[in-house]
Amino acid sequence: MDYPKPTFKTALARGLKGRCPNCGQAKLLRDYLKPVDQCPECGVRWEHIRADLGPAWASMTIAAHFIVPFYHFVLFRSELPNWQQLTILCLLATAICLAVLPRMKGLFMAIVWAKETSDS
Ligand SMILES: [Zn+2]
Repeated sequence: MDYPKPTFKTALARGLKGRCPNCGQAKLLRDYLKPVDQCPECGVRWEHIRADLGPAWASMTIAAHFIVPFYHFVLFRSELPNWQQLTILCLLATAICLAVLPRMKGLFMAIVWAKETSDS
């Protein structure tokens, strides 16, 4: 099926949702972080689009910003022993990273694809 080329912003929003940046209909990732080879709706090939370390960097940056209030609370407002404080913060940071990572992968793949297919 033929879809009109989306705007850069639309492509990024679709990638952020884990959808194909071109059509927005099919999933972009399978098995958590593995990109599909080709979109079953619009036929765009995804196997050559690489996000590399961008999604990991973005996920850790976002997790670090979200965890700061918890860090302050756990370290300065709680009476928990150090090992419990560290365990809570590490588990929270890991959970945030795992939740955000697929979205960042979709976003970075959308950025690479949009720049690769742009006319300018
Ligand atoms: Zn598609």
